[in-house]
Amino acid sequence: MDGDIERILISEKTLERRLATLADEISKAFPRPGDGIMIVTVLSGSIIFLADLIRRLPMKMRIGMVSVSSYRGRTTVPREIVLDTASLPELHGRDVLIVDDILDTGGTLRVVQGEVSRAGARSVKTVVLLRKPDKAPADVIVDFVGFDIEDVFVVGYGLDYNEFYRNLPYVGVLSPKTYGNGSTP
Ligand code: 5GP
Ligand code: MG
Repeated sequence: MDGDIERILISEKTLERRLATLADEISKAFPRPGDGIMIVTVLSGSIIFLADLIRRLPMKMRIGMVSVSSYRGRTTVPREIVLDTASLPELHGRDVLIVDDILDTGGTLRVVQGEVSRAGARSVKTVVLLRKPDKAPADVIVDFVGFDIEDVFVVGYGLDYNEFYRNLPYVGVLSPKTYGNGSTP
């Protein structure tokens, strides 16, 4: 699997260090209401980030999930974004922290943030592990960013290509030979 990776963009050690400071920033930004915060995480790319982040957050929390698809399988042309909210608890009056893997064109977060606001959350903040600043649109506000990265297709630490590579412990750039059969990310 490592042989499919051209280069490591963010090492395991760097991820670990940044997660600690990011958790600190987030903890300070929440007033710690008695009934805790509501995490809304975007499946599946955020699972590793979520697991590592929440174990560093000291406040009481509930965890809800949404699934969104904008890239599917080997076809990476963005299409209409579909939101599945079946695993989302009641958000009315809650302080919500949306957790997502990457802010690319912003289409996904725009839809998720819209849904959380419509559901009547008291406050909404968003954290992303990665952001591609060259593409991120001005109308999608994220409160916390792990790393700004160049505009390359990355995998690992939860992020997939064709559902593979999520279990890599680092964030890496796929080697072109890996998707050299006509379908590029
Ligand atoms: P958006 O363009 O809506 O901001 O990003 C949508 C989703 O596309 C992200 O949540 C992520 O699942 C996927 N995505 C965007 N950029 C990348 C990338 O570089 N690598 C991978 N694996 N997925 C990406
Ligand atoms: Mg995603």
